[in-house]
Amino acid sequence: MRFFLTTAIDYVNSRPHLGTAYEKITADVIARYKRLCGFDTHFLMGNDEHSQNVYKRAVERGMDPRAYCDMMEQEFRSVWARLDISFDDFIRTTEPRHRAAVQKMVQANYDAGDIYEGFYEGWYCVSCEAFKQEKDLVDGNCPIHTNLKPEWIREKNYFFRLSKYCKPLLEHFQAHPSFLQPDVRRNEMLRLLEGGLEDISVSRAGQAWGIPLPFAPDSVVYVWYDALINYAAAVGYGTDEARFSTWWPAHLHVVGKDITRFHTVVWPAMLMSARLPLPTQVFGHGWVHFQGQKMSKSLGTSLDPVDVAARFGPDPLRLYLVKEIGYGSDGDFTWDRYTERYNVDLANNLGNLVSRLVAMAEKYRDGRLMPAGSGGQLAALAEEVFERYHRAMDLYALHEGVAAAFQLVDAANEYIAQSAPWALAKDPGNASRLDEVLFNVAEAIRVAAVLLLPVMPKSCEEILRRIGETTAAGSLRLERDGRWRHEGARELTKGAALWPRAEESVTDNSTDTHQGTPATPGATQAAGAGATAAEADNRIAIDDFMKVELRVAKVLEAEAVPKSKKLVKLKIDVGTEQRTIVAGIAEAYAPEQLVGRTIAIVFNLKPAKLMGIESNGMVLAASPEGGKPTLVAFDGDVPPGTRVR
Ligand SMILES: [Zn+2]
Repeated sequence: MRFFLTTAIDYVNSRPHLGTAYEKITADVIARYKRLCGFDTHFLMGNDEHSQNVYKRAVERGMDPRAYCDMMEQEFRSVWARLDISFDDFIRTTEPRHRAAVQKMVQANYDAGDIYEGFYEGWYCVSCEAFKQEKDLVDGNCPIHTNLKPEWIREKNYFFRLSKYCKPLLEHFQAHPSFLQPDVRRNEMLRLLEGGLEDISVSRAGQAWGIPLPFAPDSVVYVWYDALINYAAAVGYGTDEARFSTWWPAHLHVVGKDITRFHTVVWPAMLMSARLPLPTQVFGHGWVHFQGQKMSKSLGTSLDPVDVAARFGPDPLRLYLVKEIGYGSDGDFTWDRYTERYNVDLANNLGNLVSRLVAMAEKYRDGRLMPAGSGGQLAALAEEVFERYHRAMDLYALHEGVAAAFQLVDAANEYIAQSAPWALAKDPGNASRLDEVLFNVAEAIRVAAVLLLPVMPKSCEEILRRIGETTAAGSLRLERDGRWRHEGARELTKGAALWPRAEESVTDNSTDTHQGTPATPGATQAAGAGATAAEADNRIAIDDFMKVELRVAKVLEAEAVPKSKKLVKLKIDVGTEQRTIVAGIAEAYAPEQLVGRTIAIVFNLKPAKLMGIESNGMVLAASPEGGKPTLVAFDGDVPPGTRVR
């Protein structure tokens, strides 16, 4: 049983915003759900680097585009790590495996007679990196980038015969009603196909950043045509045919609703032309708005997911996005609503339920619960919830799956209120009834935590640990472990509150990268389940470390700083530029000892003036108390500009 799913790959001209994170989080929930169901799952994500916007951004920053993309890869990876995204593979379109696949696919389309030379004249939105038809413009601007006027371009291009595949695509849509979901997207695409298709340009002339056409190396493959091929490239198309035949076709492409045309019309037509099987399904999710407005970097209404995760940890954010937004529809994020849901679902409901059970088990049964009774109504509900959850999750109605699991949490809280264990505990004659009540609550929590594991992986793992589940989270299986159990003693473990109630309300004026981050209500409150110990001490997360950009540099010139015993002025090569840096190492090194040396520096430090000289960065050296500094050196040759991490 295999399951191969992908998300859209992202342009790296800026950090991911919460909307981008939404796609990855929901796809991650699906990947984790499939693993829980026992599928051999392959979850692919990646970065789309052959964009003119990426190229421009690199040039603006004075960087080599490849070095810029390397840097952004680390940015993206650190965001995904912070949000607990469990991808199995991360592809970059500048990798050799991707280039091989693109050239193979383009050649296959060409050999099939589906690519021809022509002339393109029309509108092009540089932000979308897409050709636009006159009729789609809104007041002359791009319908997606409503503050941008597309460029009129005129160039010799190669075209793909998309028109030829209109009928086969319509037939495919009709024969496979679930090919594109949800239905609202499917209907949009059916209308489009019924209106007929025009051939599309698949190359750009006069650009160096991209993959050359194998039969016309002076043109590069159009970025969208290039990008779509990543899904096949990642599993070996063009490089490892045995692996490709094992994993292709993909079972699911998760993409935003604005790019379903590329994924359900252009991409399948390319595959048909290359005589390859089509992906089983494409899911077009909706958008997360911020305070009712579309989230967009260019419109200044975006939110950094790392800032949101900093408030209560990644799991409450994951839960909010999955539970509060019907999968496939648009939804909204506001700080007030987020704090409210956190309190209602986690602090007061699930978190409180776990604390109460563990406290009662401790007080009345020394933390050890024995199986007792039949489970009664709670067991019957759990069975029904299991079925509903399973059905919903299989159809990617993620919000319904999560709602089902929370119904069991609600019911367990009501069950405690009705059965009043504290009253039962007063009379030894009720001992067996008390055993039954406590065991049933523990079992309801266990089932709910297994069902919620794909959504809140770390927290549910911690809940399961506290209520005595002995199977490791990665080995749990839905069919076996997501159902009510009538056997097995439980050793419960106490712990700090999983989700302390958030008292303060934060205002909704925090937008964009690391500016106006809402106050974190104390270290323990910011920590999610299981992370409490790690975040309460002074350790930092990987993304904090990744903010410090360490690089290899080479010393070109060195001279003593007049009137200073300690300082030396260096001219260094950092790969992408030359810089002046002032270092406090003169007592240990003479200037002539430094020229030609490879050193490590902090690359992204704000400039500072030392003895009237502007220093751009900091040289790393071991600085023993009272002793002389010793420069950090490398074991082997490394070129200037290489990142140290
Ligand atoms: Zn646009």
